[in-house]
Amino acid sequence: MSAAKSKIQEQPSSKFQMKQISEYFGKSVFGPKAMAEYVSKEAIKAVNESRNTGKPMDRKMADQIAEGMKNWAIEKGATHYTHWFQPLRGSTAEKHDAFFDPTGIDSGIEVFNGKALVQQEPDASSFPNGGIRNTFEARGYSAWDPSSPAFIMEKASGKTLCIPTIFVAYTGEALDYKAPLIKSTNFLVKNTVEVCKYFDANVNNAKVSLGIEQEYFLVDEELYHQRPDLVFAGRTLVGNMPAKGQQLEDHYFGSIPERVYNYMTDFEKEALKLGIPLKTRHNEVAPGQYECAPMFEEADIAIDHNSLLMDVMQSVATRHKLKVLWHEKPFKGVNGSGKHNNWSIITDTGINLLSPGHSPQDNLQFLTFFINTIKAVHDHADLMRASIATAANDHRLGANEAPPAIMSVFIGSTLSDVLNQFEQSKPAKSKSSKASEKKISVYRIPEILLDNTDRNRTSPFAFTGNKFEFRAVGSSDHCANAIIVLNTVVAEQLAKFKKDVDALIKKKVNKLLAIEQVLIGYVKASKKIIFEGNGYGEEWVKEAAKRGLSNIKTTPYALDAYNTKHTKDLFVNNSIFTKKELEARTEIKFENYLLKIQIEGRILGELVKNYIVPSAVEYQKKLIDTIEGLVRIGQTKAQNKHLYELAREISKEINDIWENNNKMVEERKKANNLDHADKKAKAYCDKVKPYFDKIRESADKLEELIDNDAWKLPKYRDLLFLK
Ligand code: ADP
Ligand code: MG
Repeated sequence: MSAAKSKIQEQPSSKFQMKQISEYFGKSVFGPKAMAEYVSKEAIKAVNESRNTGKPMDRKMADQIAEGMKNWAIEKGATHYTHWFQPLRGSTAEKHDAFFDPTGIDSGIEVFNGKALVQQEPDASSFPNGGIRNTFEARGYSAWDPSSPAFIMEKASGKTLCIPTIFVAYTGEALDYKAPLIKSTNFLVKNTVEVCKYFDANVNNAKVSLGIEQEYFLVDEELYHQRPDLVFAGRTLVGNMPAKGQQLEDHYFGSIPERVYNYMTDFEKEALKLGIPLKTRHNEVAPGQYECAPMFEEADIAIDHNSLLMDVMQSVATRHKLKVLWHEKPFKGVNGSGKHNNWSIITDTGINLLSPGHSPQDNLQFLTFFINTIKAVHDHADLMRASIATAANDHRLGANEAPPAIMSVFIGSTLSDVLNQFEQSKPAKSKSSKASEKKISVYRIPEILLDNTDRNRTSPFAFTGNKFEFRAVGSSDHCANAIIVLNTVVAEQLAKFKKDVDALIKKKVNKLLAIEQVLIGYVKASKKIIFEGNGYGEEWVKEAAKRGLSNIKTTPYALDAYNTKHTKDLFVNNSIFTKKELEARTEIKFENYLLKIQIEGRILGELVKNYIVPSAVEYQKKLIDTIEGLVRIGQTKAQNKHLYELAREISKEINDIWENNNKMVEERKKANNLDHADKKAKAYCDKVKPYFDKIRESADKLEELIDNDAWKLPKYRDLLFLK
């Protein structure tokens, strides 16, 4: 968002992109250009200072910025302002206030000033806090984050000035994603710079880069509203695949339907105005599924932008009478959606540390960051798994179409060879640097690697030429969950690396040899996490078990990784979370899981009683009337055996579905009586959720048997293929 910060951002690659960007880019952002026009130089200096040092700005300056921001926003047509933040429930939060309190027809009192800009106290008792605050002391503050510039959000009914903020409890604990994300980034940058000094004394700073590919489904708005499961759970809880689904794979990269194309260009324009340039758009594998990817940016901004983009995409969809489905698995039987997090680190000297270099020495630096990342993922595989665990993502991970729940790293054949060679080469005996120069020349990684890296769509964490791609993140998830963990584990690993290397240097081992020796040890220690084969195959499940890798299929068990001493030490010792914050967040995750399953269970019950069984009974009555009529005209049972059979089958499914629904309700009651969120979540997972499949089986059978006109829910064939 901000260009005042020396920031990294991918450059446009085509003339069209350049034209679009120059026309719309940042039009709705209070960035450096707008600031220069509306705010004094002195105040801009104060913002930059506060940005760089994290220190609060003095009130006089804040008043000036607020005044400029307000004038800019009003000129652009905004009437209200809001502190914009990302509470732990996911998505974003806003509470709009008008710039003026009216006192008469043409007069009003100005209410937006420096104080209103810098800090607000939203009535925050209803945001998740994991026990940090009780409702009676529910004060929470949103505090301006000057590193993200304000922007104007346009929705159908008007324009609102949005001021990005962090959200903290009265007691000081963070209640959002932003504060710990920034801490984790700073932690990674600090340790990166220290390790870089081995190779280049000129490196003084670095940025974590992130490009987030977003997959989504589109459905017709009118049909969407006829499916309570889509409206309240974000996914279809019942429904059969039509005769033609994705088996021909003809949707993937196919031509984009015009209605969708119009939608895409529309939201891309809105995104551009907000400073989010998108670089790709295409059809995904499943019918009705699409993907877009922005150009990469600094991680914290990329994550803000992903939240903002999701918001924009949903609101623009309304104009096109569409609904975006973010759920990881909105439809059974076709692919689910993910959010691939492309991640790297780039130094202030312009070097992408995950890009193989031109010289052996550069390559040793590349290998340093490459191997340390692998080691970090290896040592914290369960935490990485936990970072992407949600009720929705469970449908995707391990469902033979998305990265499996087993954490592994894909690096491609070229780098596998390099690591093998590396591991087998014994550390050179000579301590002279000349010998070491010669020795490391084996790491002559082909320069063509970037275009040459093979792709493996089945890997949860893949190296793709000049970045790692954390592919297992769910499409509806807030990326900060995953990136806080990734940043932190790699940062901690780099600190260990530095310690190990320094210890050898102290023993008079040459620096490059010391680096090499430590890295060889890491390759040996972590190579079991590297997997190049098919992650969807049954063989991998067996092989992974043999290697001792975890395969944690469900969220409440995956989340236990947040409660281990290993994890607590990692986060608390490195000041990313306090113990209280970490415990609260974990509690929220357990709660979130059980609430999601609870809601799904309830909706399923409603579908059974208010939609499915009534449809079945209506059709069954027709059938019985017909059979009675046939008897009246003297037909025998044998002559109409299929009609009898059909009536019997429908009765059987009605019985089954009703009974399973009752049993599910009983299990829900038992689960609700347990005393801790984690126990409840596990009971919901093990005892309640299995009934979903049983109920669905009968529902889908009934859908198959019953007259189309009697079926009360739009079917997959209507939902998946947009008209
Ligand atoms: P692909 O689709 O083949 O994985 P792309 O080049 O289209 O590769 O990139 C996908 C995403 O990765 C985009 O959002 C892009 O901006 C991002 N990306 C590319 N290079 C980097 C990098 N060095 N660091 C972070 N993200 C990157
Ligand atoms: Mg990609």
